[in-house]
Amino acid sequence: MAHVQRMSTLLLKTLRDDPADAETASHKLLVRAGYVRRSSAGVWTWLPLGKKVLDNVARVVREEMDAIGGQEVLLPALLPKEPYEASGRWTEYGAELFRLTDRKGAEYLLGPTHEEIFTLTVKDQCTSYKDLPVILYQIQTKYRDEARPRAGVLRGREFQMKDAYSFDTTDEGLAESYRLHREAYGRIFARLGLDHRVVSAVSGAMGGSASEEFLAPATAGEDTFAYCPGCDYAANTEAVTARIAPADPAAHGPVEELDTPDTPTIGTLAAHLGVPASATLKNLLVKVDGEITAIGVPGDREVDLGKLGEHLAPAVVELVTAEDFTGRPDLVRGYVGPQGLGIRYLADPRVAPGTAWITGANKQGTHARNVVCGRDFTVDRYLDVVVVEPGDPCPRCGTGLEVGRAIEIGHIFQLGTKYTDAFGLDVLGPQGKPVRVTMGSYGIGISRAVAALAEQTHDAAGLCWPREVAPADVHVVAAGKAAQTELALDLAAKLGAAGVRVLVDDRAGVSPGVKFTDAELIGVPQILVVGRGAVNGLVELKDRRTGAREELPLGQAVERLTALL
Ligand code: ATP
Ligand code: MG
Repeated sequence: MAHVQRMSTLLLKTLRDDPADAETASHKLLVRAGYVRRSSAGVWTWLPLGKKVLDNVARVVREEMDAIGGQEVLLPALLPKEPYEASGRWTEYGAELFRLTDRKGAEYLLGPTHEEIFTLTVKDQCTSYKDLPVILYQIQTKYRDEARPRAGVLRGREFQMKDAYSFDTTDEGLAESYRLHREAYGRIFARLGLDHRVVSAVSGAMGGSASEEFLAPATAGEDTFAYCPGCDYAANTEAVTARIAPADPAAHGPVEELDTPDTPTIGTLAAHLGVPASATLKNLLVKVDGEITAIGVPGDREVDLGKLGEHLAPAVVELVTAEDFTGRPDLVRGYVGPQGLGIRYLADPRVAPGTAWITGANKQGTHARNVVCGRDFTVDRYLDVVVVEPGDPCPRCGTGLEVGRAIEIGHIFQLGTKYTDAFGLDVLGPQGKPVRVTMGSYGIGISRAVAALAEQTHDAAGLCWPREVAPADVHVVAAGKAAQTELALDLAAKLGAAGVRVLVDDRAGVSPGVKFTDAELIGVPQILVVGRGAVNGLVELKDRRTGAREELPLGQAVERLTALL
């Protein structure tokens, strides 16, 4: 017996017009089709149809997590400050953390992710290596005061996440737990009908070593990923590495100063000297936790500030402002060069030892040529911080990379002992000695997956859900008079009894045209029209995705639909 939902009683008001502030298809359609409503910036109400889709996503995730031995728990979202202080994240998380104070003055936070609390839970429950490995997960509301909540439920400040944590006593155990999650995620996204890629990622503020992201290609996505048409390399562009190819420093002449008035930008410099921008070295000044730092990249490349932030996290990266130059005669704005510069110097790997550059001479209106890396200046740290461009060489095989946009729907990490060290989580090993536990953490954006699905599957007429997540299996439209409505309701009841989830449009006084438009907008996979032909025993079945129509006898509708499922 499956659920039959009558539209005449459903809490639903579809909209003909896009919400004014919506830019992405999923945002527009989920609002127009009555799945979600905005409550405040980045905070959403899930209406009945939306709640069904959200629950369907959660159900698939739950089934696959259970299948790898995950045990579901539910930890609080309201968390005390102390564990997050112990891990350092109370401050590291910065402005993204929702902090609050209770009536007694004790400080709390609304959980953005739960490594700390799961570590403490396991510390409380597990004492011996025999208690491990263990995989715990929850499906829960998370809170992050995102700087730019956007695109409806795609990036919320309150959102649903499945977060899982694995606890092992050995590196091999962690690798195995990680593999189990990686494979489960592949099954989850395949079942949900999400086209996705697994790419290497930067671990960022989470800490730890190996990490991969599951990305759903979509133009509305905020992530970019690079993939190689020549091999199976794929990475978030934030994680793409360039190869350092050292050159011969002896191949270049001595440093030579150039009189270059009014050339504070790479464009003006390259034009003045008649050289390509790639021959110049651009030195961007930023503040890293307040300390002025220079970053050298080839003049024809852009620095990806997001990527820089990821690499230097938890340090805070800011651009320098005019005030930062006051009282700093050593920093000549527009003419900065790494040679003899007394500040920390980071560089892109393309600024390899032995390469020569035209760069600022740290004197107003002056540049220098033949400034050789390793001879005239040294790099304190190499960092991959340039914006990856299509055609950049694949770090694995050298083929030109392609670049695409995507939505991050999942992220898996081998954290190692970052949190178990912070909380001293040991268990007694086989030899009776304490063993430090090693940990993994694994997230899926449940609410974001709904938006990602809408992005990937919609068409001009509306949403177009894959069956597994759709709010119903069939949308029965009573198109005509009371007689058709009666037949439609009767058919809906029979379908329900046969295990088919039904949405039936039995609204009186609504024209067939409006009902058809709503059915397309709502996006249930099959639309069954009970129209004029029904009195003669004929109904029409339409596939929402392909638009294919077939007429069939009313008496065969149940059989036909159960066969489709
Ligand atoms: P992003 O880079 O998009 O901010 P993240 O790296 O901060 O994501 P994680 O901390 O790895 O994300 O969280 C696990 C998953 O939770 C993400 O893969 C994503 O699917 C989802 N998620 C993260 N932030 C949000 C958000 N603000 N709204 C909705 N879903 C989110
Ligand atoms: Mg984030």
